[in-house]
Amino acid sequence: MKIRTRIAPSPTGPLHMGNARTALFSYLFSKKEGGDFIVRVEDTDKERSEPKWERDALENLEWLGLNWDEGPTFTKDRGSFGPYRQSERTGIYKEYLEKLLKEKRAYWCFCTTEELDAQRQDLVSRGETPRYSGRCRGLSIPEQEKNRSDGKSAVIRFVIDPRKITFKDIIREEVSFDMALSGDIVIAKNMETPLYNFTVVIDDELMQITHVIRGEDHISNTPKQILIKEALLFKGKIQYAHIPLLLAEDRTKLSKRHGDNSVTKFREEGYLPEAIVNFLVLLGWNPGGEKEIFTLKELIAEFSLDRVHKGGAVFNLQRLDWINGFYIRQKNTKELAEMIVPYLKEAGLLSQNGEEKEFHLHIQKSQPYTIQETGEGVSLDFLADVVALYQERLKKLSEITQLADFFFTKELEYEKELLSWKGAENTAIIASLGRSQEVLSSLKEGEWKKEKIEEMLLLEAEAAGDRGSLLWPLRVSLTGKKASAGPFEVAAVLGKEKTLARITQAQEKL
Ligand code: GLU
Repeated sequence: MKIRTRIAPSPTGPLHMGNARTALFSYLFSKKEGGDFIVRVEDTDKERSEPKWERDALENLEWLGLNWDEGPTFTKDRGSFGPYRQSERTGIYKEYLEKLLKEKRAYWCFCTTEELDAQRQDLVSRGETPRYSGRCRGLSIPEQEKNRSDGKSAVIRFVIDPRKITFKDIIREEVSFDMALSGDIVIAKNMETPLYNFTVVIDDELMQITHVIRGEDHISNTPKQILIKEALLFKGKIQYAHIPLLLAEDRTKLSKRHGDNSVTKFREEGYLPEAIVNFLVLLGWNPGGEKEIFTLKELIAEFSLDRVHKGGAVFNLQRLDWINGFYIRQKNTKELAEMIVPYLKEAGLLSQNGEEKEFHLHIQKSQPYTIQETGEGVSLDFLADVVALYQERLKKLSEITQLADFFFTKELEYEKELLSWKGAENTAIIASLGRSQEVLSSLKEGEWKKEKIEEMLLLEAEAAGDRGSLLWPLRVSLTGKKASAGPFEVAAVLGKEKTLARITQAQEKL
């Protein structure tokens, strides 16, 4: 039998890291066995579902590389078990609702909110678990019809068989629920508005899902779904795997309260998809060795639900940063250069030529970008040189704008005091900058390479006795920063003209 798993996002908000991890586990589990991975959009909540959240889910799943065999795409459904949006399956659900109503496995319930509250209070006061009392279960079909034609508001409840339901969970082993503690559950608001526990059973059956992999927060839904499945005489065999909760550092369930955990947010901050995949898989899955870095392809080969642990998995940002830094270091600098462009643009440091029509005519292909403040055209190679200076330390792409902004500004803004090394007076600093300028001016264009610059400046710095007295003011004059890449590297990337101009500007400041 072919393995078929699914991810079933509800488009009521952005896809969060927890959903992405569930999708990843489902994807890996099926792909390892050559199975199918399906996306089903669970948009039964008409008020809260929005197309933009569906797009967010699909875009992020695609970005993570979790390509689905079946499901909605941006244009049309892919696969033969569709539609894959629950809102387009109302007719299908309706038939099954009718069947359950006819067979008295479900009934219309007319209890008002106040009545339900009173019933619950009554049970609590008798020391029982609050649940629906089953009051409307006894209504005959004609009575139900009458109430409905009288216009009484109603919902459809499913008759819960009050017995013990035990199922085997791949992760949690044997799980039991005493359904006597659950009252009859609402499965539809009306014939056109079925609810989650009902629709999921029908879709998992009709879409021939073999393994339901989902968050542990759904575990108490499983016995309800098993009962509905039995009532509908569905034959499909489903194995369940409830994966551990994601916990925040404070070991409480990760939620909005801990900040924005949407995939989009991490993506926008400059986490790479391969890093997120690698980080997410380790939240719950134990690779069983020292190896921590896995590509998606390796994961398909190595993943198994047997090594998913039961305990909650702590969402550790430092670990994500570390993994992301690793993947950033694996990129070649040209690739990285392209990846930092959106951040530089967003920060107003760079613009991309050709985006506005007027650029078309006079801009050379070799300089596809423009430094906003100076109007100077720059190449991808220049951006690659810039990013190369930070590749070792970048934890996420967005950090580039803070680290490297001085390459994209005309006048550096910094306090002149910053130029002073060990309390040196202005005259001494001016003289020191003058020596750097002299050395650097003597270099010919062809010699303007980091190695040569370093060699010449170090000679001068050694002669000065204290290297810092030469190199500190020079570095500050070029970057305007207390901490930055070294003066040789920065000068090499800035080029001779700008380097000398910045030294002069620093002298003028003093
Ligand atoms: N729509 C549900 C959710 O987003 C899916 C639950 C399931 O996988 O059955 O949590």
